[in-house]
Amino acid sequence: MTIETTIDAVRAQVKAWKRSGQSVGFVPTMGYLHEGHGSLIEAARRENDKVVVSIFVNPMQFGPSEDLASYPRDLKKDSALCESLGVDLIFHPEPEEMYHPNFSSFVDMTVLTEELCGLSRPVHFRGVCTVVSKLFHIVQPDRAYFGQKDAQQLAVIRHMVEDLNMDLEIVGCPIIREEDGLAKSSRNTYLSPGEREAALVLSRSIALGQKMVEDGEQDAGRVIAAMKEMIEKEPMARIDYVKAVDGRTMQQITAVRRPMLVAIAVYIGSTRLIDNFIWE
Ligand code: AMP
Repeated sequence: MTIETTIDAVRAQVKAWKRSGQSVGFVPTMGYLHEGHGSLIEAARRENDKVVVSIFVNPMQFGPSEDLASYPRDLKKDSALCESLGVDLIFHPEPEEMYHPNFSSFVDMTVLTEELCGLSRPVHFRGVCTVVSKLFHIVQPDRAYFGQKDAQQLAVIRHMVEDLNMDLEIVGCPIIREEDGLAKSSRNTYLSPGEREAALVLSRSIALGQKMVEDGEQDAGRVIAAMKEMIEKEPMARIDYVKAVDGRTMQQITAVRRPMLVAIAVYIGSTRLIDNFIWE
């Protein structure tokens, strides 16, 4: 496994692989890797000859009051995990390598980013679409792997690839959880022991909503109300949003139908966590 920090080096390596007819799977991440990222890497490993992982905390997708400076980083541990999972190349650029001083081109998406995290984090998806486009141009993968954990991001990326005729396959992978249900996230590291306990309210409310839908509830409003009521009982929790949206357009819906995405963002103390379930 090699760790590259420059775009030229990644390009040269990928070109050599492609010349010899090898397929490339790509897993974009912000590092501080856990089993959620690991599951994406494993899927890429199974389906491609070569696997590239990018580790880049992308400044452009963070708002001014968000956690860019404190975002956890541990390249040594990340490299060891990647090595053990058979990754061929880690791309770990500095921000200056990705954004030169005159950088001024952006990929902006409308409709799909108007709800959920797009509402609470106005610059977020512009940053995500721009960096993911750049990474696709650099790595030229045959397939790229994204987690259902960030369900809106997955929908946005799929849509961008279709809109802009990008020549690769997007593969969505299921949410990986801790044993007690909490969705794995690099941001879980911010939680104190008390907050870690309180954070279980996210997965519990997701399980509640999912059960209501499975049991035949037709009114999305009732599902959302029950989930909100559960979250509001947790004193450390503050709701950002709890919403049911169309799984394709990300627009709010009132009646349960497929595909539906029920997504939540909840602050536990000052840590913002997300979770969701899909009804397909
Ligand atoms: P991040 O490093 O948080 O930007 O995440 C990189 C990729 O890993 C994204 O496609 C995420 O959706 C995915 N991911 C993060 N956490 C999980 C999880 N618990 N289960 C599955 N995929 C995940």
